[in-house]
Amino acid sequence: MNYETVIGLEVHLQLSTNTKAFCACPTKFGQKPNSQTCPVCLGLPGSLPVLNEQAFLYAIKVALALHCQIQKIIKFDRKNYYYPDLPKNFQISQYDMPLSFDGFVDIPDESSSGRKRIRITRVHLEEDAGKLIHPEGEDYTLVDLNRTGMPLLEIVTEPDMNSPQEAYDYLTKLKTILEYLKVSDCDMEKGSLRCDANISIRPIGEKKLGTKVELKNMNTFKGVRQGLEYEVKRQLSAVKDNEKIVQETRLWDADKQVTISMRRKEEATDYRYFPEPDLVPFVVDPSIIDSIRNTLPELPEAKVNRYMKELGLSEYDSNVLAGRMDLADYFEACAQVYENKKTIANWVTGDILAYLNTHGIMASELGLSANGLASLLKMIDAGALSGKMAKDILTEAIETKVDPEDIVAKRGLSQISDSEKLEEIIKLVMSKNEKSVNDYKSGKKNALGFLVGQAMRETKGTANPEMVNKILKKALGE
Ligand SMILES: [Zn+2]
Repeated sequence: MNYETVIGLEVHLQLSTNTKAFCACPTKFGQKPNSQTCPVCLGLPGSLPVLNEQAFLYAIKVALALHCQIQKIIKFDRKNYYYPDLPKNFQISQYDMPLSFDGFVDIPDESSSGRKRIRITRVHLEEDAGKLIHPEGEDYTLVDLNRTGMPLLEIVTEPDMNSPQEAYDYLTKLKTILEYLKVSDCDMEKGSLRCDANISIRPIGEKKLGTKVELKNMNTFKGVRQGLEYEVKRQLSAVKDNEKIVQETRLWDADKQVTISMRRKEEATDYRYFPEPDLVPFVVDPSIIDSIRNTLPELPEAKVNRYMKELGLSEYDSNVLAGRMDLADYFEACAQVYENKKTIANWVTGDILAYLNTHGIMASELGLSANGLASLLKMIDAGALSGKMAKDILTEAIETKVDPEDIVAKRGLSQISDSEKLEEIIKLVMSKNEKSVNDYKSGKKNALGFLVGQAMRETKGTANPEMVNKILKKALGE
């Protein structure tokens, strides 16, 4: 029997507000443990929560960007559970009336060149819990409540993904959109963006969902994909061996590359949800929603379309550029001061992106400004630099943070476009390579490429290749 994989994802996003969701405590990362707390987030008796307006507006912004409907009445609920990092013994969340619902994100379709729609079930606002710290080798646990009460968005999809790769594509796309919205630093290492997955398998053609396993503890998108790949294999082999798949939560162990059973899943009713009595339900003025909608930035998909239609870039280049906000910003800054957009795209998606990836930095942290790149490209156009020289200068400019024009001036570099000088060099190359010269004259035309290469070598790449070509051909009697 053939099986299909069914995956749904739950993303938790920490919103980058200055203060917590329901109190005025600061949200700065990496501060002294328990230094950013107050009676409200510590859950002391008699303290009352007040909704952070900025967190609410950010939540609406995300919901709109994900094409969600906004709930008419905003209401919060208590999700009750006992845990050492949750001093109130409940979390303020949203249960039956999430802030928004019925959205979608489109991802590339693996089976065609089209798109696949991943439906968003809900986006709701809640507060984070604290952090337990287990010092290595010690028999005690410490609690840091700085994170308690931080504003979180929970973004839940329908089980619409059918492979680990689709889950990866969805996360990548979602993260890009969230970065464009500037509502979170989306930093997985800091825990600002976390992802849990529900995964099950079922015979192809079966409508009913199989028994799902919840997968946690994946700290990178690559980890999500690997954990899901492992789970697909594990579940398929269990079914093959007539074993029952148990509904449970499993943890991804990135070191051992396996998933480990953590606990049987609690049912939703275990949380005893009830309306939060300290926060009254309220209605959002439609004009507030409209004004947020009107200030949404150009999102990745719209950017890709514009790059292709208005700037004439390829679909591939457009996707690469729009896929990273820092890259798109860099490209657009350069496009302000340099005419040929295709040339900029080549450099940005090529050498520059490779450098960013190797060094794990953002385009805004690059030693070469968009203006600097434009000046480099202008020097190539003017015939002052060959492509190879430009690449060397690019690397030097990035590493030394010196403007390309200054590097060229300082090194006395500029392309040899002086025909007399080139003729001399070509004469030398021809005398050193008589065999190739004779080959060419006897009809082996590809000998020309070799001779051009030798001339470039002789000039350490500083000769103007077009002129070398022309002069060589002439010298060879064409
Ligand atoms: Zn507080």
